[in-house]
Amino acid sequence: MKTWFAIPLWQRVIGALILGVIVGFLWGPDAESIKIIGDVFIAFIKMLVVPLIFFSLVAGVASIGDLRKLGSVGWRALLLFVVTGQIAVWLGLAIGSFFTPGSGIDARSMALDQGALERAQERQQEAVTFRDMILEVVPDSPVQVMADVNVLPLIVFSLLIGIGILMAKEEGKPVLAIFESGSVVMQKVTMVVMELTPFGVFALMAWVAGTLGLDALRALGILVALNYFGCLLIILVIYSSMIKFLAKLPVIDFFRGITDAIAVSYSTASSNATLPVTLRCAERNLGVSNSVAAFVISLGATINMNGTAMYLGLATIFGAQAFGVDLTWNDYFLISILGTLGAIGAAGIPGAGLIMMVLVFGAVGVPLETIALVAGVDRIMDMMRTTTNVSGDAAVATTVAAMTGEIDRVEMISADDV
Ligand code: ASP
Repeated sequence: MKTWFAIPLWQRVIGALILGVIVGFLWGPDAESIKIIGDVFIAFIKMLVVPLIFFSLVAGVASIGDLRKLGSVGWRALLLFVVTGQIAVWLGLAIGSFFTPGSGIDARSMALDQGALERAQERQQEAVTFRDMILEVVPDSPVQVMADVNVLPLIVFSLLIGIGILMAKEEGKPVLAIFESGSVVMQKVTMVVMELTPFGVFALMAWVAGTLGLDALRALGILVALNYFGCLLIILVIYSSMIKFLAKLPVIDFFRGITDAIAVSYSTASSNATLPVTLRCAERNLGVSNSVAAFVISLGATINMNGTAMYLGLATIFGAQAFGVDLTWNDYFLISILGTLGAIGAAGIPGAGLIMMVLVFGAVGVPLETIALVAGVDRIMDMMRTTTNVSGDAAVATTVAAMTGEIDRVEMISADDV
């Protein structure tokens, strides 16, 4: 027991991840029987999302001190979200056009996985219109929003409460104290739940490796490889440059600080589920102030999805090639806009990127069957794009914190691995 806790959590998590893959491949589809452990882990971690966002975002916004400073953090974060999102979609389009992953496939002759097809069709029916997306953001009933774990309107509601506290000045202080204390309590609860990570990660990885097997991987191997390649480029080039040139901080220390978030995002494929971990990494390991971390990362977990944006570009090209659809420059521009919007609109949950494909494919005439084609291996790709999304949230939070003097540099460089 003592030896177990003596190993840093991130090392236990990485060990569990590798072991999970090995066990999954050896065990095969029956590995699904231990998925329940992963589900329990995800349920615990999801339990944290609403109270954590609510307490830490309200406290974060209110403790920024004045409305002018809130604006200066806010516009920088939004600008970085949108610019990196655009770069990501165009990267996906470029990789798809250059490596032509879909040209070697005759999509019509390809046997479709019926289960995946049905799941894709269900998801298509859930597809939302742009008008729904806007209304979705308005928290018509805060209690309902919390009960549904509906993150975007919850963020809007929390922002407004935070702004209200700032406007109330002295009279708002007692309410602020409640939120600040609540936010500390939630961080302690997070620490306890985090101890379950190695078990959850092990079970989820065994399930993925065991049920997908090697066959499905081979058929769509190129697409999967390109998805990983694009995501790695985003992480290693875009995020590293952001940390090095905009934040002027050591890149290695940044990645070392977010190891837990990387492992959890990769195994859960959910930015929302990873949110508590990302927050903790940013504050404890990277020295980002609580107010900036809570504000930028909560917002980013829902709207900053560069892995998803890149994938939407790549998958559209893949579908067009597989079904022989010619795309014009106009189509490319349309994809770049809809890809960014789709990434903003996608929820931080597993498979959300698949739903958003409907938005992009429909506009440029790529058959929706492409969704069924890729659905079988979506999880493998989803894991990597979620890691990209989550690392992006941490990178933007760190950069904005560095630009606005909201980072403790000594803490970042000397942080112990927790
Ligand atoms: N699963 C991703 C996330 O939570 C979204 C996606 O499906 O692309 O960040």
